[in-house]
Amino acid sequence: MSPETISAFKKQFPDVVENEPMSKHTNLRIGGPARLFIIANEPSVILDAAAVARKLDIPWIVFGGGSNMLVSDSGYDGLAIQIAFRDVKLRQQTATVEAGAIMSAVARQTAEAGLGGLEWAVGVPGTVGGAIYGNAGCYGGEVKDSLVSVDCYDIKTGKPEVYPNAKCAFGYRDSRFKREPHVIFRATFKLTPTDPKPLKKRIEEILQMRKAKQPLEFGSAGCMFKNFVFKDESELERLKQDVKEIPADMLAKKAISAGWLIQQAGMLGEKIGGAQVSEKHGNFIINLGDATAQDVLMLTSKVKMKVRDDYNIMLEDEVQLIGF
Ligand SMILES: Cc1cc2nc3c(=O)[nH]c(=O)nc-3n(C[C@H](O)[C@H](O)[C@H](O)COP(=O)(O)OP(=O)(O)OC[C@H]3O[C@@H](n4cnc5c(N)ncnc54)[C@H](O)[C@@H]3O)c2cc1C
Repeated sequence: MSPETISAFKKQFPDVVENEPMSKHTNLRIGGPARLFIIANEPSVILDAAAVARKLDIPWIVFGGGSNMLVSDSGYDGLAIQIAFRDVKLRQQTATVEAGAIMSAVARQTAEAGLGGLEWAVGVPGTVGGAIYGNAGCYGGEVKDSLVSVDCYDIKTGKPEVYPNAKCAFGYRDSRFKREPHVIFRATFKLTPTDPKPLKKRIEEILQMRKAKQPLEFGSAGCMFKNFVFKDESELERLKQDVKEIPADMLAKKAISAGWLIQQAGMLGEKIGGAQVSEKHGNFIINLGDATAQDVLMLTSKVKMKVRDDYNIMLEDEVQLIGF
């Protein structure tokens, strides 16, 4: 980006920050500088900034909690917009939530209000926008189960849209938003009025399970790889040749846990530089303190190659790569 372009952007957005370290905004605590950085406290800030960026030919991205991103060591040579509008409105059977609200906090708030359906999301560190983008899920629930509609902005057409659930093309850690660029502004979830006590109990159970199974004391991006979903019986038969003794729960779900495969491949504790495959959970790559994005990328490649060589399975990334 040329100095002229930057000063033209600054004229319209005097509060823009230059060279903001993305390591301050990602859960992995990794990432070089965003050349330009703004925090959007309301949707109009994004629309205004995007219009100026488009005019000046500046690439731009939005993000939320940075809990599912690996940003390159050289950073992002464009405008990074962090979404920070977080209003939550609860009604009798619905929650209308702005994209910057923290998913885990929404899970607690709705449970305390006696609205069931989002308990699974407690402990998901990102925002509602990020959760919709990747159809986040765990512990038997996912975004698509209770989402009614999404208010967003279609970047290609420049038009606001409201998509009902059926038009979001949700799949396993997937949605249309991964393939067609949009900014998610807010969403409505349908919830079930319930006694708050069992909801709060479930929340505590999930938090305990997370603490026991996940290396929460280190920076990470959560699960690095998608679980391997097998399509049919013939694929399963092929897999059984390579992967011995697949646990019954995985056979029932027709998905082999990537963490389990990585463990079977003997990769727990594997290190490159400051990045390590967690000894607690094979699908978490943790930052031991001084990891670079390069360390993480090299380690993910090593893990993928070992799993491919041992089991003939190509693991797919769950984490979003920015600035590579
Ligand atoms: C300890 C830990 C545990 C985790 N547990 C789980 C889990 O159980 N289940 C699970 O599914 N995930 C889990 N994750 C991953 C992550 O928290 C989720 O994917 C989360 O939903 C990402 O939200 P975010 O706001 O941090 O997204 P970000 O990392 O900020 O962004 C991820 C992607 O979403 C896009 N995006 C974000 N907001 C918007 C928006 N408003 N409009 C359009 N695009 C947007 C970004 O451009 C980027 O491509 C975990 C992560 C960690 C660190």
